[in-house]
Amino acid sequence: MSLYDAAKDALKIAQKADNIDLIQKLLDVQESALDMQAKQQELQAKLAKAEGEIASLKTLAKFKLMDGHTYMIDQDSPQRSLCPVCTMKNGFAVPLLQGSNWCAACSRNYK
Ligand SMILES: [Zn+2]
Repeated sequence: MSLYDAAKDALKIAQKADNIDLIQKLLDVQESALDMQAKQQELQAKLAKAEGEIASLKTLAKFKLMDGHTYMIDQDSPQRSLCPVCTMKNGFAVPLLQGSNWCAACSRNYK
């Protein structure tokens, strides 16, 4: 049972007892419970967004500039060269055209 529902049940009992002070306090509790529920939903949305950003950063952390070159590699599959601009912009691996260092997405050449 949520705090809001518990206050609602208590409010019914207070109304039967005709206790005005208790009714007013329980209405305050209900209002606070609704405010807390709204804040909780807002925080859950922020948490989900932050978790998504962390996952994206973990993915991007696997990509490194190749020593002596301008293209990137995925440390999990270093044989594949990646466009550094498109990979960082999109948050996922954007491979260069196989056999060359040309990016079909941004039309740049890397060496
Ligand atoms: Zn590119």
